[in-house]
Amino acid sequence: MDILLSKHFEYLNNDLHVENVSLTRLAKEIGTPAYIYSKAEITDQVKALQKAFGDVLPEGRQPRFFYACKANSNINLLRYLNEMGVCLETVAVGEMHRGLKAGFKGSDMLVTGVGKTHKEIRTYLENNIYSLNVESIPELERINKIAGEMGKTARVMMRLNPNVEGGAYDKISTGRAHDKFGLSAPTIIDNYERADLKNIKFIGLSMHIGSQIETTQSYLTGYQVIAHLVGQLRDKGHNVATLDIGGGFGIQYKDESLLDLKRVAEAVRDVIEPLGTEIIMEPGRYIAGNAGLLLTKVEYVKEEGGRQFLILDTAMNDLIRPTLYDAYHAVVPVANPHAEPTSYDIVGPICETGDTFAKGRVLPKMQEGDLCVIQSAGAYTACMASNYNTRPLLPEIMVDGEAYKIIRRRQTLDDLFEMETTI
Ligand SMILES: *Cc1c(COP(=O)(O)O)cnc(C)c1O
Repeated sequence: MDILLSKHFEYLNNDLHVENVSLTRLAKEIGTPAYIYSKAEITDQVKALQKAFGDVLPEGRQPRFFYACKANSNINLLRYLNEMGVCLETVAVGEMHRGLKAGFKGSDMLVTGVGKTHKEIRTYLENNIYSLNVESIPELERINKIAGEMGKTARVMMRLNPNVEGGAYDKISTGRAHDKFGLSAPTIIDNYERADLKNIKFIGLSMHIGSQIETTQSYLTGYQVIAHLVGQLRDKGHNVATLDIGGGFGIQYKDESLLDLKRVAEAVRDVIEPLGTEIIMEPGRYIAGNAGLLLTKVEYVKEEGGRQFLILDTAMNDLIRPTLYDAYHAVVPVANPHAEPTSYDIVGPICETGDTFAKGRVLPKMQEGDLCVIQSAGAYTACMASNYNTRPLLPEIMVDGEAYKIIRRRQTLDDLFEMETTI
């Protein structure tokens, strides 16, 4: 049976609580399905990052954390992270606008992404973004041209593709030579501080090798590759002031061992810190992933062909990761955790066999109308949801101690239809 993945989730009187709020009560008050987040878990994760690197790196040489907000971009969450002193990494112009709404200044945000359009680059420059992380030479030249037209100097980091393995799944590995991201070291050497690019200030290099990385070795190898490149650039007389060494820290989805952040911090201390640059990191999943639950109700228990199906009121449109990556998400009941262990295929109502959360998963015996939660739903969940099957987007709830706030209301069918019927 699956375990609880945050110390802020706990059974009290056989009823699962997030901090001090009962999920049975929440389901009554806001309905199901819904995303529930624990503010205390988010706080703990930010502090864990700050401590892991703070303990190992010398005073005054702490990394700056830019939260990769594609993991969970709710404006209220971003506002809270802003209060905690975290900056923002964005991969699309809409995310930058979310950042502005949450109170970030342009200079507290980075932007990455392989497909920046003319209009987006203009917007980034208007907002004095801290750095545009460049993924191709045509993009670099386009930024130079637009900055020139605007009478601005664009701050740029060149994104290195270090050609290392990283990431739990093929689709979220980003640092191998055949992936679409970043530039090879020789290309960077040929173009860094190119004399004709007069409207660009090259502040340094960036790198992000993948997501849900579970071994220190991937980081160490990546750090060694980028450090080597810094040496080569400096030998040619170039200035490298900033290194953005990416995110990707893995979290627990079942009972696997966690990435040891202390060892990652030691690798940063040994390989990156001696270069004397500003150090930036871009954690996403690590901050939000295990703060979130998808609260759902068992609509039917169906027995057929020797299998028992739990048919939930949530579906792949609300949580796409099992369908997209075959990702594992732990499922536990809200009530009666000690009922008889029973094996279920856990599915949603959508008309695709891919709408399956788990097969042969053992849970305490469940009945029609019972509540359960799908865990690790704080990152790459709400932000990846769709309206497939004309299913409205779910509400997002932030629990804080005894209280909770609806930080996004449930979408209505009217919200959905309005965009079509007004034409
Ligand atoms: C997605 C992404 C991240 C964050 O990845 P996590 O696995 O959520 O930490 C960081 N940097 C870049 C460039 C990204 O695309």
